Amino acid sequence: FFIAIEGGDGSGKSTQIKRISQTLADEGHNVEATREPGGTELGRQIRSVLFDSEPPSPRTEALLFAADRAHHVASLVDPSLDGGNIVITDRYIDSTIAYQAAGRNFDPKTILALSKWATQGLVPHLTIVLDIDPETAAARMGKRSENNYLDEENRQFHQRVRQTYLTRAHKEPDRYVVLDASVSEDELTAEILTAIRTRLPQ
Ligand code: C5P
Repeated sequence: FFIAIEGGDGSGKSTQIKRISQTLADEGHNVEATREPGGTELGRQIRSVLFDSEPPSPRTEALLFAADRAHHVASLVDPSLDGGNIVITDRYIDSTIAYQAAGRNFDPKTILALSKWATQGLVPHLTIVLDIDPETAAARMGKRSENNYLDEENRQFHQRVRQTYLTRAHKEPDRYVVLDASVSEDELTAEILTAIRTRLPQ
């Protein structure tokens, strides 16, 4: 069973993934928690190329995210799903549509086609969007006071990202669950677990 946890920066994805993975494992499920970019050794190198050196041009960035995803699916996600695990990924295709297409203003059809090619069409059984207002998220990350973090351009970028997640979720209500990520950590964990448990094959 393949689950993607999506949401803007500061929505609490990684904290929640740690919590839910632990709970599901304690209940006897085989859980593989992973992330994009950087879920594999090659992916960690791609992540470093993306973030630790000269900022890539937007097209280069889109291709690097796609390369990370192609390797992630082929070498980790697919084999883990074949082994019967619940695979939970911190970000997947929706991130790319939100950040590379809507955020960077590329044609979503092109970006989606690239991702479909990279993943050979692997779609999560369930995608959970942790929805949060970019202001609240920035405050949570302690970035609100950082110079220019939410300047007008960045604010609009993060609004487009948020809106894209919501629009995509709205189009496929059976496969997506949108949760308000501004609630307490405990409350959000409980809601995510409910969303997963009601959909896990018995
Ligand atoms: O989620 P994580 O912290 O690993 O993401 C690192 C950075 O990469 C974040 O700032 C996120 O906004 C960005 N990102 C992106 N496009 C993606 C995935 C992440 O721009 N497809």
